[in-house]
Amino acid sequence: MANDPYDFATRAIHAGAAPDPTTGARSTPIYQTTAYVFDDVDHAASLFNLQTFGYIYSRLTNPTVTVLEERLASLEGGRAAVCAASGHAAQLLAFFSLMEPGDEFLASRNLYGGSITQFAHAFKKFGWICHFVDPADPQNFKAALTPKTKAIFCEALANPGGSVVDLEPIAAIANAARIPLMVDNTLATPFLCRPFEWGADIVLHSTTKFLAGHGNAMGGAVIESGRFDWLSTNGRFPSMTEPDPAYHGLKFAETFGDFGYSMKTRAVGLRDLGPTMAPLNAFLTITGIETLHLRMARHVANAQAVAEYLAAHPAVAWVSYAGLKTSPYHALAKKYLPQGPGAVFTFGVKGGFDAGVRIVEGVELFSHLANVGDTRSLIIHPASTTHRQLTQAQQIAAGAGPDTIRLSVGLEGSDDLIRDLDRALARASG
Ligand SMILES: *Cc1c(COP(=O)(O)O)cnc(C)c1O
Repeated sequence: MANDPYDFATRAIHAGAAPDPTTGARSTPIYQTTAYVFDDVDHAASLFNLQTFGYIYSRLTNPTVTVLEERLASLEGGRAAVCAASGHAAQLLAFFSLMEPGDEFLASRNLYGGSITQFAHAFKKFGWICHFVDPADPQNFKAALTPKTKAIFCEALANPGGSVVDLEPIAAIANAARIPLMVDNTLATPFLCRPFEWGADIVLHSTTKFLAGHGNAMGGAVIESGRFDWLSTNGRFPSMTEPDPAYHGLKFAETFGDFGYSMKTRAVGLRDLGPTMAPLNAFLTITGIETLHLRMARHVANAQAVAEYLAAHPAVAWVSYAGLKTSPYHALAKKYLPQGPGAVFTFGVKGGFDAGVRIVEGVELFSHLANVGDTRSLIIHPASTTHRQLTQAQQIAAGAGPDTIRLSVGLEGSDDLIRDLDRALARASG
């Protein structure tokens, strides 16, 4: 699909889908089935041996989920994709295909809070060690490499502060070390940023956010570029190059070539760990993606209007939105996100913690909840919610100090959003 001649908007609507061959149904049906009838015993055997592509059992593949996988691979300009039950499930699967106990990886320290917890604590139980790196200087990644480093992970556009990572030099560092660069592209979506064009090898998504886009379906995806050369890494990735005992000695990189990583992630990761995307959630996400290009343009326009309003407000101490010319990430955003730096950002209120609490309690149109990427505008005060267990120093390091408020700007009329914030700010500072 990388050379697909169709425009992004056309692929957002059509990639991976065709009228249902049996009924002519034009919208992708929800294949609400667990299993699929085999033609005969030989057909079943070849499916189980991964010699024929087809459907066996919905933990591994499901026709509705397949449409979404093909659409995501097309939009990112990748070779193949595997969907999962959530963004976190996708991250687990992505690393499961790369890591052995005792292996290490590097991650930007500017990440979604849930990813920091997953990497620092849950992954430790698999024997996988994550070292967090300040991404402000890409050379920090190079300095932190060890012989056990198996990947570099970052968010193109980072949650919660909307900071932008300099992907190109980080990709060059990963490439020189012969390890994959993994980019969580959740907040940007492929409409705003395509990490494969900057040298990334694996792209991850929480499809829960802007891709599904309506706050109604959990999901995740792992997408591979097809360009990483597993066979020339001197056995650094045994799970890709060594015979797999659970598949009669099959070597995934050798057998499947440029989609071997996706095959491994599905045939072993999904099969043995089991975090499968539900067909209904795939259907809702496919439907969401059909308007992704329209929604993201409006999300960005609304975010820019709200950020400019806040930056000029006397009760606002600072605004961290890369669309503002004063942002230290403005130049990087112009390079990597030319159509706009998304719609999730933070700002600080004068008056600290108490003023922050009064604002989230004072808004009416913004919903006070822990999510991003909805049609509806969302607001949260991290210090009193998602980051409340941390010390104040840890909160500040995470970009979630006592005065910080995070917005996910939705698709409503921007004047209405600004009026809502204006009233809440007046009440909070009054
Ligand atoms: C939400 C989110 C995740 C986790 O995804 P879930 O679908 O909630 O499991 C990962 N990365 C980023 C940037 C997110 O915003």
